[in-house]
Amino acid sequence: MRRPIIAGNWKMYKTLKEGQDLVTILKRDLYDIEAVDIVVCPPFTLLTYIADMLEASTIGLSAQDLFWEDEGAYTGEISGKMLKDAGCSYCLIGHSERRQFFGETDETVSKKVFAALKNGLTPIVCIGENLLDREKSLTFERIKSQLDKGLQGLTKLDAEKIILAYEPVWAIGTGKVATPEQAQEVHHYIRSWLTQHYGDDTASSIRIQYGGSVKPENIAGLMAQGDIDGALVGGASLKADVFSCLVRNTLKG
Ligand code: PEP
Repeated sequence: MRRPIIAGNWKMYKTLKEGQDLVTILKRDLYDIEAVDIVVCPPFTLLTYIADMLEASTIGLSAQDLFWEDEGAYTGEISGKMLKDAGCSYCLIGHSERRQFFGETDETVSKKVFAALKNGLTPIVCIGENLLDREKSLTFERIKSQLDKGLQGLTKLDAEKIILAYEPVWAIGTGKVATPEQAQEVHHYIRSWLTQHYGDDTASSIRIQYGGSVKPENIAGLMAQGDIDGALVGGASLKADVFSCLVRNTLKG
């Protein structure tokens, strides 16, 4: 049985004070949730502060990106080693906004997955088709290519340590959520790919989140699908009451 995991991606939102206020309320409102892994992904500047706040809490901490080298002359970059040192346990990799605006490719995703694992961070690897792919019925082809390249060379043992997030690009921040059936179809495809590469036991242990306009109102329907194990949440993670409600509704699916 896979344990549900809900991660809130704050993107480039929240000053330190705003982030601290949000986490204060989440800690208070979600202290009794035992059956769901809850993770927040603040911007880099907040990580050490939020890590301190989460020390005695079950809420996990994730970065939104990392660079693949541990250190060096890479101005502006942050390494997995630094993120671990800052108190992170997870790291988003290959989010569609990184792919779209910052030239992230499946090849860089692969390097980052290895860097995260090397530093003891759980990679949350984001994949998903864009609108054109979907309209041309190329969804599975796109997903296959992202998995083939992004997870290239990953051993079974390492594969067991990752989380995947299926995020159809056309559903991110647009208010257009994939129907639970549309999402399940792709999650099932992803799990079949995992089975082919790593066998049944490993494939059935890997958690696959759905992402794209997830809200308190639609999380239960998504969670009712057999291969959906949680959500990567953007907009709805920025308000404490909305995110708390979403986490609670996860258990209704
Ligand atoms: C995301 O940031 O990964 C995301 C899915 O955003 P939203 O929930 O706002 O669509």
